[in-house]
Amino acid sequence: MNGYRFLETVRQMDDGHDVPVILISATKDTLKEKLTGFNLGASDFLIKPFNEEELVARVKSLLRIRCLMTELKQKNILLEKLAITDELTSLNNRRYFFEAVKEQLALGVRHNFQIACMLLDIDHFKAVNDTYGHLAGDEVLKRLGALLSETKRDGEILARFGGEEFVICLCNTDTGSSLLAAERFRSTIGAYDFTSTACPELNHITVSIGISICPQSVAADPDNPVTIDELLKTADTALYRSKSGGRDKVTILEHTC
Ligand code: GH3
Ligand code: MG
Ligand code: MG
Repeated sequence: MNGYRFLETVRQMDDGHDVPVILISATKDTLKEKLTGFNLGASDFLIKPFNEEELVARVKSLLRIRCLMTELKQKNILLEKLAITDELTSLNNRRYFFEAVKEQLALGVRHNFQIACMLLDIDHFKAVNDTYGHLAGDEVLKRLGALLSETKRDGEILARFGGEEFVICLCNTDTGSSLLAAERFRSTIGAYDFTSTACPELNHITVSIGISICPQSVAADPDNPVTIDELLKTADTALYRSKSGGRDKVTILEHTC
């Protein structure tokens, strides 16, 4: 294989895009050769005879650039992660939730499946802060976040919605399965012991849950697709009913257009 063919092969490999490659040629027609090399993705080009010190200097320079690029990529990955993560609980944040659910809503229209949105709000959480302090309240939120993560099933999209509210999206579901899922979360949280050194007598907390479910006819209507904002609004109404009905309850409402 000649140098150009080799370069093309490396560049087509999954991990070969960023590998620095210096082409070294003995050809007299240098400009044409150089242009072909650069067009194929060469990082640098030397003509024989070359000075060895220059080659070493060029290799070092390319490796320096590669190190910086790797660092930049890692920082970008971190920034992307931070942009979608809730700082306190390390769960996904609202921004992630909206993006992920939008995709699911589009899939729901295409494949005719129902989507449910569940809002979960801690009951009387202000009293936890008032009794044990804000830091202890933070600790409860962190532990609840971890518990929700453990309790959720694959495919359920969980996020901290804000404050003491969490949100879970269930895809390809129906009314019965959504209610079962909500009861699973409500009872698991109710049974969990939140006692810690920060809140020695807290024992248990309860949550109220509101679910909105998008009926099949609405989910499958491409001319009038339901939006995440609409689903959340209905879930909020359902949550309000759980609260006014005495808390520690689940209410489900069908979203209507
Ligand atoms: P309800 O049963 O009606 O939901 O009562 P509640 O006390 O939970 O609701 P309310 O809206 O009156 O108060 C919410 C409380 O949540 C007040 C606020 O300080 C607290 N809170 C919101 N975000 C955080 C947080 O990040 N950390 C802590 N420690 N508390 C928070
Ligand atoms: Mg609230
Ligand atoms: Mg609350």
